[in-house]
Amino acid sequence: MQFDRLRLNGFKSFVDPTELVIRRGLTGVVGPNGCGKSNLLEALRWVMGENRPTAMRGEGMEDVIFAGTTRRPARGHAEVGLAIDNSARLAPVGFNDSDALEITRRITRDAGSAYRINGREVRARDVQMLFADASTGSQSPALVRQGQISELINAKPKSRRRVLEEAAGIGGLYQRRHEAELKLNGAEQNLARVDDTLDQLSTQAAALARQARTAARYREIGAALRVAESALLYRRWADARAALDQAQVTLAADARAAL
Ligand code: ATP
Repeated sequence: MQFDRLRLNGFKSFVDPTELVIRRGLTGVVGPNGCGKSNLLEALRWVMGENRPTAMRGEGMEDVIFAGTTRRPARGHAEVGLAIDNSARLAPVGFNDSDALEITRRITRDAGSAYRINGREVRARDVQMLFADASTGSQSPALVRQGQISELINAKPKSRRRVLEEAAGIGGLYQRRHEAELKLNGAEQNLARVDDTLDQLSTQAAALARQARTAARYREIGAALRVAESALLYRRWADARAALDQAQVTLAADARAAL
């Protein structure tokens, strides 16, 4: 991964907009003690997603914002931009459509950090993955701070292994495996929830099937009842009609007898 330019504004001692051009080959930064050389390396770590204030030699992340001097007031925000050459198109899908990438991180007092890639707002994780895939990042052993060489010499095998893995370019795979494990856990939890819902639904379906059978029987009996009632009414009507006819016949006979 080729870094082309580091842009700082309000970051630690770099209160005014400052640009560090990083050309091919070796770039050296020289200056008297306390002029801000280490701050440049910290800006690089910070824009790559460093989230430990101690790694920035501070107590809180807002300590990276220019704190003011006797002659200049403190700033309310700090911003660092890192321009990367992406002509080999090795950036992750979604950020791989241009030859140059600019990653910016801005911190505002009481509002935290915001990240952008080529002006588009992204998550801290997107930025960390972009660098992890290129086997670098805020905690990459390639960024050597003061005293780190002796730490490495005295390091335990596990820490040394991390250095070798970074060098072999598999650092990003661990992050991706971790993300995949988190997704897998999420999917398993979702599956368990779906099983619970299925159990509930099958209980409800059994109750509904019982109710449906009762409703069908009710309809059958209702239809039979209506037929029986119609037959009964017809029978009563027919009986009444026969009784009427009979009464008329009797009346006629009585009338004839009376004459
Ligand atoms: P050395 O050569 O001694 O290691 P250096 O060139 O690496 O020094 P840095 O440690 O990068 O210098 O810079 C330290 C300077 O940055 C100090 O002067 C300190 O006051 C200043 N500084 C650090 N944080 C802030 C801040 N938040 N606001 C203003 N100045 C800051």
